Amino acid sequence: METSHQLHQALTTLTAHYFPYLTLHDLHSFRLASKSIYNSLQYTEYTKSRDGNDYLVPFPGFPGILSTRNDIHSGAGLFCHQLASLHAMHLAENASANLAFGSLRGGILGDAPGLGKTITMLALICSTAGLKPVDPPEFYDLASINQHWQLMRGNVVFREEILKALRPIRDWAAQQDSNAARLYRELCREVCPPYVEGRFPTLQSFEWHVYSKMRGIVPQYRLDLFRRNVVRFKAGLDKRNRQFLRSTMGKRILLERNLIPCSTTLVIVPDALLEHWAEQIRRHVNLEVFADPSSFHRGDNNGKSSHGVVYIDGVGDLSTARFPLNHMQMPLPSAFQLMGYVFVIVPFSRIKERNQNKKRRRDDDGDYTSEITFDGYFKNAMLQSSLLQLRWFRIVVDEGHELGENEAENDVTKFINEIAAERRWVLSGTPTTGDEDSTEFNSQCLDQLQRLLIFLRHEMYGILPPLSSVDSNTYNSKGTIKDMKHCRKKQAKSAWDNNVKTAFLNKQESGREELYRVLNEVMVMHKKEDLSLPKPIFKQADINVHVPFDVQSKIVEAVSMDESNMDTLLPILSELGVDIGTRKAELHNLLPRAIKSGGQALFDAMIHQYFYTDNYQKLVDEAQGNYISDSIKKAKINLDARGGPVLNSTSAPITAATDKTIDFGCNDRRPIKAVVYSSSLLNLADVTEYLHLSFKSENIAELNMGRIANMSYELGRFRNGKKEGKLCPICGGWNDYIGKKLMSCYNLIMEVSDFSGRTFLVEPQRVLRAVGFDEESNPNLVGNPVDFTRLQGESLYKYGLVSQKHWRVGDALKVDMRDPHPLLQKRWSREVWKSYGSEKCVDLIETYGGLGRDGYLGPLPVYDNGSNEVFVKLNKWQQCGKFHGRSRWYTGPTVEHTPIRTEVEDVFILCLDAALAHGLDLSFVTHLFLLEPIDDAALLEQVTSRAHRLGSTGPVIVETVNVWPELDPKTSEKAKKLTSTSTHISSRTTTCTAVCDHCYRSFETIEKAQIHEKTCDRNPDSAAIIDPFHLSSIYRDIRPPPPILAGQAHPIDRRFNGLKDRAKM
Ligand SMILES: [Zn+2]
Ligand SMILES: [Zn+2]
Repeated sequence: METSHQLHQALTTLTAHYFPYLTLHDLHSFRLASKSIYNSLQYTEYTKSRDGNDYLVPFPGFPGILSTRNDIHSGAGLFCHQLASLHAMHLAENASANLAFGSLRGGILGDAPGLGKTITMLALICSTAGLKPVDPPEFYDLASINQHWQLMRGNVVFREEILKALRPIRDWAAQQDSNAARLYRELCREVCPPYVEGRFPTLQSFEWHVYSKMRGIVPQYRLDLFRRNVVRFKAGLDKRNRQFLRSTMGKRILLERNLIPCSTTLVIVPDALLEHWAEQIRRHVNLEVFADPSSFHRGDNNGKSSHGVVYIDGVGDLSTARFPLNHMQMPLPSAFQLMGYVFVIVPFSRIKERNQNKKRRRDDDGDYTSEITFDGYFKNAMLQSSLLQLRWFRIVVDEGHELGENEAENDVTKFINEIAAERRWVLSGTPTTGDEDSTEFNSQCLDQLQRLLIFLRHEMYGILPPLSSVDSNTYNSKGTIKDMKHCRKKQAKSAWDNNVKTAFLNKQESGREELYRVLNEVMVMHKKEDLSLPKPIFKQADINVHVPFDVQSKIVEAVSMDESNMDTLLPILSELGVDIGTRKAELHNLLPRAIKSGGQALFDAMIHQYFYTDNYQKLVDEAQGNYISDSIKKAKINLDARGGPVLNSTSAPITAATDKTIDFGCNDRRPIKAVVYSSSLLNLADVTEYLHLSFKSENIAELNMGRIANMSYELGRFRNGKKEGKLCPICGGWNDYIGKKLMSCYNLIMEVSDFSGRTFLVEPQRVLRAVGFDEESNPNLVGNPVDFTRLQGESLYKYGLVSQKHWRVGDALKVDMRDPHPLLQKRWSREVWKSYGSEKCVDLIETYGGLGRDGYLGPLPVYDNGSNEVFVKLNKWQQCGKFHGRSRWYTGPTVEHTPIRTEVEDVFILCLDAALAHGLDLSFVTHLFLLEPIDDAALLEQVTSRAHRLGSTGPVIVETVNVWPELDPKTSEKAKKLTSTSTHISSRTTTCTAVCDHCYRSFETIEKAQIHEKTCDRNPDSAAIIDPFHLSSIYRDIRPPPPILAGQAHPIDRRFNGLKDRAKM
């Protein structure tokens, strides 16, 4: 592994200088001495882009990407715009004038949402697998160090320092056999001072001796630790540099030299996207290309392994991960474990948690950043998160615009900015957020951009100075820095404000030029127009919600009263459900005025108050829920009429031939998959409840903010249409497997007793109905009749299905005693129960009077009259696992020891919380329902892009579900007749009905939208006059160079030429 990587690295460096670009075809015909590299190149399965052309790509291409068996089968390839982005990203990482330590390498991948940024980034990571970051510069005064070394070579006291440096090797030896211990003792004898004349004349010769002796025996990471110790040791010897080492810059270099360099790319992703990344890698990266050939894994073919390539925080090694993804709470592995991987994927929540730990520690130990002693510094470095202990090859922050939105002082941002990595990328389809039409837009976005430059460590506008410039010019002979001003964050900010922000806002050409220069250097951007995708179809649904008659008449009555005043009106409003308490201020402000106007004005004011009530909101939710479920049902019927759904065998991109000619309409037979989207969690939850009434719960997935495990599970269900879990052997009930170990069954079981006082357990499915008051006189009744309003309007027949929060002890129920029951597993016989310890359970029930947790799902009582339906009284309910508590008496089979199984589910609805929508790949979605209109064009584009993206094979219907209150014609008449001094109209206000296909701005009429489209600044065919001092015009001007066709004699790209020229020198 090590040799292969070294060779690879050498070769890559070589080729990067002499022939930076090869065709994929060239790559395949490469004859190489190294068999392992040759073999790995053979995995570069595709030789052409999806448009059928052969382009030049940087060596060694993108091994592993889109070369899983499925991808090869479906002929997947990178899109032309992805190759262009990769070309630009390669340049951003390598074409910088100075490739030394600390220069800016990376940028912002800002391809529009839906253009496959994840795949593009995965390809980039694949192309550099095995490379290590450049080492930070040596900056010690060698003469001074050697002088001290000479003094100490003969000194016995010095022995302690040497042994301290060797500690990692000693620790290793202690865990090994006697042979290792002997080796260590031998090493100590050789390197412990005093030295004879001529032995180890320099510190370096000592260091090399240890390496030469121990390399190949002691694990590499132990040697890295040793190396760190030597660095620290060296710093101690060089007294004169101490002051420099305390400066921001010095600390940075010291810190980074002290970190362990690795070839790993760290990807930080929003929690909701962890599943997405895992899924994309699993589907589109052939991990075997990167696996260590020496690591054999049981069960793998030909000894090839995909183990040790991808680590997903909370899941572990991807090769052993289960799908749907199961996320668990687990500690992050040590830095030494992480550095072995090519990819490490970590969610934001881990950063937050790390941050809290760090804070807590800081509170305990005092502010460690103020510590200047080396011991203190290194001790703290070791205590820190393993994310901070490594010098990563690359860091990628997905949906990284959040770094720009947050103030730099924000803890998470600060932590991420602190992570050391040679190459730094922000991934975001909307690098800057805000309403393009707002006057504040430019100013806000420029602030956001500067924060992103801080993360990128931009030379001029980021926090830290270029570390590469630390040479003899930067600090003088006394070890102090000549020029400290660049070290300060404030300075970077004011430089940005002066050179860019103010000038650009004042419409000065210099500001535009500088902004363009900076962004062109760091930003890689493609727009949707660069790719032909089936256009989304925007629709508006207008539903009327009838205001209940009694509400209308009460208001009309109140308004018609001769004397209306606050005292008479407030109680009426309260009766209608208006929360007088919380709305007090508004009511006292508005009502008196409306009372003065009287008539229709007062009517409007009153009904307006009613619209804020929960009562009315419930009607709205119900109407939206019904509309959505009707629409989905209709779409399904319609699809069946066209021959039923046809499953695309792969969600991977279609083949090149069909790329431009995706046809839909009648031929679009994608299965119906609908997303219900809202930014109001409450509204979403309520509408979801109504959807549950129309569909089975297996049809609906819900993505709410919460534990990653739940989010991944729900997304997996929606995507894959299957669930994982265990069937309880006792009750036969299903238990979802969402990452937690399943120890016991969590299905609820009810304890009930009948007219004769016999007590037994029933499953909720057996409840035929709850008994209402109309049966109060029934002589067979046991328990209390149930008021159906308590069931929140649900019928008494659904008692067993409603949430248990509506159940009450003592409720009278009618249950179905059939066994077998059509929905349930047949109950075990009395003998079987006996063999599992039921007699002991009966004893326990007697001891505790049946009020304890005992009881068992034994055979049901049989009645003399042969009746299958009996009245019972509900005594209590609890989880099946609690009833059959193993520790107490039960010895039979349990959920814990039942194997996990996968069940197919028809999940076609996803209820999506707006906060989690960013970045999700839902290209297979056919319908998107918005519970509230989105007027912000950028947001609408983001939301639409969940489905309108690469891989989608048909248009997505984006439908806003608008709700309008509707009054009886009679009431309207009456309200109109009421004399009024005001003519305020309460009915429908204007609504936007048309959306521009290019910029997603909304318009009131289709005509207006069409007029706009002619001059829309994002319409490639428009005759728009663009304001050059709007940020969008800069974005428009940034266009990554297209990939270079193989055989193209004179590439057009200027930057590419520059690179080639340098390579020739
Ligand atoms: Zn159970
Ligand atoms: Zn437009």
